[in-house]
Amino acid sequence: MFIYNEKFVSKKEGYYYSCPWIEHGLVFFPYKLTMCCNCGHEGGGHVMVRDNFSGKNFDINRIFKVKEIYRRFHKKGKINVNCMNCNYLKEEKWNNENYLDHLYISHWTKCNSKCIYCYESNFPEDFKNKNLYEVLPILKNLYEQGLLKREANIAFGGGEPTLLGEFDDIIKFFMDNYFIRFRVHTSGIKYSETLAQAINALIAYVVVSIDAGTKETYEKIKQVPCYEKVRDNVRKYALNTTFLGRDLISTKFVIIPGINDTKEEIEKWLQGNREDGLYASVLDIEENWYLENRYKIPNHIYKLIEYTEKRSKQLNTYFQTYERLQNLLCDKQNKKSSFFRKKRIK
Ligand code: SF4
Ligand code: SF4
Repeated sequence: MFIYNEKFVSKKEGYYYSCPWIEHGLVFFPYKLTMCCNCGHEGGGHVMVRDNFSGKNFDINRIFKVKEIYRRFHKKGKINVNCMNCNYLKEEKWNNENYLDHLYISHWTKCNSKCIYCYESNFPEDFKNKNLYEVLPILKNLYEQGLLKREANIAFGGGEPTLLGEFDDIIKFFMDNYFIRFRVHTSGIKYSETLAQAINALIAYVVVSIDAGTKETYEKIKQVPCYEKVRDNVRKYALNTTFLGRDLISTKFVIIPGINDTKEEIEKWLQGNREDGLYASVLDIEENWYLENRYKIPNHIYKLIEYTEKRSKQLNTYFQTYERLQNLLCDKQNKKSSFFRKKRIK
């Protein structure tokens, strides 16, 4: 559904509201293709390109046609309802060409962690029935046609990518074809030699999900006894690369209010990162809690974010926020009410 709003009608010649994902993005999920994987804003994201996709009959021209429909609507100030108040939506002079340079690979069906906040770990049956398909033949085909750019912004997410049968081959494909950079989100429970090589070649950026500064908190959240193993693997990735490569390894801490939202836990996490030789730390907030509480965020959460940023800088690690936290900070800055907010509050 598209909604007209005058504020989205561009007054500048050749400009319109769109985003890099509408223009040139694609996400592979186990059962669908979407434009993007962003979902922390009011519209809800996950803009659909094709439902019921299980790897068969992939047709890039059909996808480009869907994108063209979006462009046509957006040029008239009619914005897709799922894109409302998304930070990526920008008024720009987009080039309107058909190619992919934003890719998210998330077609997994299993994981070696059981995070308490994960839908999939709570309903594993739903995922067992999904069909695991291969993405690599599709990527190769797109690349051979010149439709997948080497400078593409590529990420693996969801589940555990290193468990995918084609994981090593996909990484090798990116390396052999000199792709510039890709990001891998991993539980860190399994050490991947191929990933270590890609870090060392300065092509892979790895984000290890840890959510804790102690074994006790980790096990409460992840429900697997793997804290030491994950810390060992993070250290091993850091030790097996160069000074420059270390910038490409980080751990991610998802704030889960009531479980790990204390300065002590954050401090131990950051200190652990420093001891493991990392130069980067990533912070986010648990999605379900955030969506339920986005208009009544307690002050101590803001204070915790400020504390993490300050301590991260003091420890000389690069501080990065992820999507939900970026939305939370944006909401704070931009308190003006929106169409959606008024509707939900009624
Ligand atoms: S939800 Fe945001 S990132 Fe996704 S397609 Fe819409 S504007 Fe782009
Ligand atoms: S690592 Fe990701 S997919 Fe696996 S259980 Fe945790 S949130 Fe779910």
